Amino acid sequence: MQIETLISQLNDVEKEEVKKNNFSTIEDIIPLLLSRVTIENVHTLADILKQSLQPSICDDNNEDIDTIFEQIDKEPQLLFKKEIQEKIEGFISNRFERDKKVVIKRTSDISKFVVLMGQYLNEAISSNGSGSQNVLSIKEKIQAIKIDDGDTEALTNLQTELINAATSIESEMNTVTNKLQSGKTKVQELEEKVKSLEEELSRTKNESMKDHLTGLLTRRAYTEEIKKIESSFTRNNTQYAVVFFDLDHFKKLNDNFGHECGDVVLSTFAKILAKYTRDHDVVCRYGGEEFVAIVHFKLNRELLQYLKRIKMIVTENSFIYNNQKIKITFSAGVAIRNNYENYHTTLQKADMLLYDAKEKGRNRILLENGQEI
Ligand code: GH3
Ligand code: MG
Ligand code: MG
Repeated sequence: MQIETLISQLNDVEKEEVKKNNFSTIEDIIPLLLSRVTIENVHTLADILKQSLQPSICDDNNEDIDTIFEQIDKEPQLLFKKEIQEKIEGFISNRFERDKKVVIKRTSDISKFVVLMGQYLNEAISSNGSGSQNVLSIKEKIQAIKIDDGDTEALTNLQTELINAATSIESEMNTVTNKLQSGKTKVQELEEKVKSLEEELSRTKNESMKDHLTGLLTRRAYTEEIKKIESSFTRNNTQYAVVFFDLDHFKKLNDNFGHECGDVVLSTFAKILAKYTRDHDVVCRYGGEEFVAIVHFKLNRELLQYLKRIKMIVTENSFIYNNQKIKITFSAGVAIRNNYENYHTTLQKADMLLYDAKEKGRNRILLENGQEI
């Protein structure tokens, strides 16, 4: 730059100085220009510079910075010295390093918290009791994380809040566990009640299925059995006969020996039927002194054998009551299911044959082919 051009840009006072001192080189003019910068300006600049050198995250005081700037404060021109400027450069790069360290340390504390809290929640969810040792020990670990004194309050607050959260999770768990336990006892109570009701029901059902005097199936239970027998008959064509029994002159027996004696005879007759009727067959007390048996058979002689055996046992033996020998006879009608459309018509036929047997003088079993036992 030409000296003239520089002089032309100076203010009037400076131009006067140039004239007065006969400045002829740019070097001559530099001190004049430097005087434009007041000492206050340098102080302000030094202050701003000092602030910008302090780390923004790391709280540690750097005593070196303080010392240098105390010197600059006394002697602002030092700012323009090379060695001082190099030191300031050093502070700048050091400032980044120190902030970086603090950030790394804090994020590692936060990630420790996150990991521990995660473990805590997992344990809390999977453990079945509130006092789980694992849960407690994780909470203690969160408590034990040592946060540097220099760090902000924020991390300490986070730690406190995590511990509070863990504590309230624990008390929540206690309540849930207690509720679960009392719920469990309630369920157990209900289960027991249901069980005892079921037992009572099945006892009542059994009682209503068995005739109290003879122990044979009642007519109602027998009707249920007939449904099964009928469905097996239609599916497998299982041949069976309906045998209708009726004790002869039973009224007279009651009259002669008493009702109690009649009961003993009825229950003994029932025992004989039960004994000689096979398991897959059915026998029931149909009414007062009437009984019905369902007898499955393949060959006719099997059925005849059964009927003959019953007749023989009843007629060839005497019933004993109060040391008295009592002779009993019965009449029966037998109809074979295959010969009829359904069970009911078969039963009607057996009943008719029983009536015929009575008509013919009792103490006999009548089959539909006219055969008599
Ligand atoms: P029939 O040879 O024609 O069958 O004559 P019956 O006397 O046996 O027939 P009836 O139907 O006239 O009488 C049946 C009697 O059976 C009447 C009733 O008192 C008696 N009876 C019915 N149930 C019981 C019972 O549970 N115990 C006693 N002891 N008797 C009963
Ligand atoms: Mg009768
Ligand atoms: Mg009778």
